[in-house]
Amino acid sequence: MTQTVTVLGATGSIGRSTADLLAQHKDRFRAGAMVGGRDPVTLAKVARDLNASFAALADPAGGPALAEALSGSGIPNGAGEAAVLEAVTRDADIVVAAVSGAAGLKPTHAALRLGRTVALANKESLVCAGDAFMRDAKRYGATIWPMDSEHDALAQALHGRPLDDVRKLMITASGGPFRTWTRERIAAASPTEAAAHPTWSMGMKINIDSASLMNKGLELVEAHHLFGIEAERLDVVVHPQSVIHGMVYWIDGAVTAELALPDMRVPISHCLGLGDRLTIERGRPLDLVALGSLTFEAADEERFPCLRIARAALAEGRAAPTVMNAANEVAVAAFIAGRIGFYGIADLVERACTHFAPVYAKAPADVEEALAIDAHVRAWSAEALPAMRAA
Ligand code: NDP
Ligand code: MG
Repeated sequence: MTQTVTVLGATGSIGRSTADLLAQHKDRFRAGAMVGGRDPVTLAKVARDLNASFAALADPAGGPALAEALSGSGIPNGAGEAAVLEAVTRDADIVVAAVSGAAGLKPTHAALRLGRTVALANKESLVCAGDAFMRDAKRYGATIWPMDSEHDALAQALHGRPLDDVRKLMITASGGPFRTWTRERIAAASPTEAAAHPTWSMGMKINIDSASLMNKGLELVEAHHLFGIEAERLDVVVHPQSVIHGMVYWIDGAVTAELALPDMRVPISHCLGLGDRLTIERGRPLDLVALGSLTFEAADEERFPCLRIARAALAEGRAAPTVMNAANEVAVAAFIAGRIGFYGIADLVERACTHFAPVYAKAPADVEEALAIDAHVRAWSAEALPAMRAA
């Protein structure tokens, strides 16, 4: 029986890899609704290529262009929030949640509320409203398959064993493009240099987060919610080859790891297969002899302060990760636009965390509250930016 797969963020990096797998396994999958952000032409192409059941663009202004690009295809389409929600509501066995940033919260949560099986790439959902997402997944009978490579690795290594058996969960970081750079050189880095990821091919925002190690910080929060494990039993190690993605350290001293060359189609296919193994055309086999060695080093929180800030936010809990994520999204956009330097990202995020710690004393109870905090912090951060530039 074929399974219908809806993709939120169908035109992005994860969306394209997902489309590749759907096209490779037509006997197993049928395309459901395809959702994009602002690019009607690319969305129409994805929807046509996959013969999607529906296409929705978040940006209402792109509606006419989407309709035009899909004319004659017979694919129903729409634009704006209502169209995105209609896309989520359409029949689907699996919903791939791969919108970038906090914009992914609402559609991802809508899929959870429908009790869908959600393949979750949008880590911001768990960072901003992890308690609410995990509670509601349970409440509405939804299943979450972690698609982030580290979390997919941890889920495979854990294999359903109870946390009592676990000493700690370790995720790996490539170290990003600045792993060997001095602090001075990092301080002067350009957006192009920050976006040049050494091992993974990904979207712009997550590339910058990988350079700052904020991505690893977000992933620690993500792991905390997904596996229900406390911050003290979560750790990061830098592993430049990105072959080991996650490891379970057991109480008896054994360690279970998952290995694969860095290709997001591996964790995506594991999620789409719901645990079944799927072949991947043009997938590269892991040749350990050719690779020669796997190396590891400690993460440097002095050159990469975002990791320190994220660990502190995770330890603090409450709304700290929500605040951190919002300030980080503003800071990354400002860095890409050339408005602040690389360390301006950590600076703004830390200031926001300090400023808002006494303001929000509890974790957001639901998505609406998380989005209200997100909007508040974004507005504050946008105002703080010009002062930083002058400083
Ligand atoms: P991209 O920037 O490449 O793609 C983002 C997608 O989201 C695009 O399809 C974009 O459409 C769409 N989008 C943006 N805003 C909205 C909106 N308001 N409503 C609906 N759709 C929207 O990101 P990635 O694919 O790299 O990442 C997606 C998510 O997956 C992120 O949360 C990231 O952290 C996570 N992730 C990504 C990995 C990777 O390898 N790329 C690895 C692990 C996790 P448009 O282009 O039209 O704006
Ligand atoms: Mg990851």
